[in-house]
Amino acid sequence: MKLKKVGFIGFAIFIISSVVFVIGLAAESVPLMIVGGLIYILFIFYIISNSKCPYCGNYIKNSSWKHCPHCGKEL
Ligand SMILES: [Zn+2]
Repeated sequence: MKLKKVGFIGFAIFIISSVVFVIGLAAESVPLMIVGGLIYILFIFYIISNSKCPYCGNYIKNSSWKHCPHCGKEL
């Protein structure tokens, strides 16, 4: 998967988790806040598992990078 797409989907998951959490906060609903927190954890795992170079497998910190800093291949 292209890193730009990963960043976009990750951002969408982050927004959803924030919205669910804020709604839970506003409604004073603890289960909803927990769901928001769980979606946020999912977001962290998603970013970590997808922020890898498809060629050498090293971690890519910045999704806007055009080339892998480890092996120099185009992302
Ligand atoms: Zn690489």
